[in-house]
Amino acid sequence: MPQVTLNVQLLETTQDPVSVLYSAYRQCYSAEFAADLLKEDFKKQEEFVKKMAGSGHESPLEHVKFTFAVEGVSRVLTHQLVRHRIASYSQQSQRYVKESDFDFIIPPSIEEDEGLKSRFIETMSKIQTGYNEMLKALAEKGRTHEGANEDARFVLPQAVETKIVVTMNCRELLHFFQERCCARAQWEIRNMAWKMLLICRDRLPAVFGNAGAKCISLGYCPEGERFTCRAYPLKEEVLKRRRAASRP
Ligand SMILES: Cc1cc2nc3c(=O)[nH]c(=O)nc-3n(C[C@H](O)[C@H](O)[C@H](O)COP(=O)(O)OP(=O)(O)OC[C@H]3O[C@@H](n4cnc5c(N)ncnc54)[C@H](O)[C@@H]3O)c2cc1C
Repeated sequence: MPQVTLNVQLLETTQDPVSVLYSAYRQCYSAEFAADLLKEDFKKQEEFVKKMAGSGHESPLEHVKFTFAVEGVSRVLTHQLVRHRIASYSQQSQRYVKESDFDFIIPPSIEEDEGLKSRFIETMSKIQTGYNEMLKALAEKGRTHEGANEDARFVLPQAVETKIVVTMNCRELLHFFQERCCARAQWEIRNMAWKMLLICRDRLPAVFGNAGAKCISLGYCPEGERFTCRAYPLKEEVLKRRRAASRP
């Protein structure tokens, strides 16, 4: 029943993503057939893709996808992750996989405090005992293996470790990074989003070179006074400056 930490691995991505995106973008503006358009060298294709992706023409970005395997995350994280609807998910089941020795995630604010940390671990241990007792009692009542797992899991904490495979196309990834790389996002999903972003940047800099929190593309922070991290000026401040500058 140990504490575990985040692990993000790239399982697969579209082969020749630059060529796929180049063909898709060029098809929009060319009388020629997409399959015959790959005459330019890689550097020229990459420059074109970078220019088009930066222009806000986003739908061709849906042709390229990334699949990640993620482990060492809590159900707190995956509950937030699966709210992103333009994606595919396969998550470890708590019906088919027994949690009789579950791992868990400790938040940094608890981890850094020895007293809190030991109370947290003690709580996990008590929940583990309760879960195992529930499993045993349900089995004695004649529930099947999955049946007992399915009901005993109701006592599990949100800190319980889970594993998930996620596939997103580039357009959704850019949106996901805008929301989840922001300082406003919850720390665990933010850490995961940053790991995914670094992998995407490495594989496809033409698309992800400038990706990140939404303030990067907006040029201002839309979060308001209470939540801003101040990396960018507030939206209101930018609008006020623009209004003042446009006054006759
Ligand atoms: C800091 C933060 C705090 C949050 N707090 C809460 C909270 O307190 N409670 C809560 O319930 N959620 C909360 N969320 C989750 C949030 O409301 C979204 O559900 C989540 O971020 C998924 O994003 P999304 O809906 O933009 O995009 P995705 O599902 O990733 O879809 C991408 C884009 O596709 C389009 N799209 C997708 N589906 C539709 C549709 N049906 N109709 C029209 N357009 C669509 C939209 O343009 C959308 O932005 C929070 C998210 C963040 C980042």
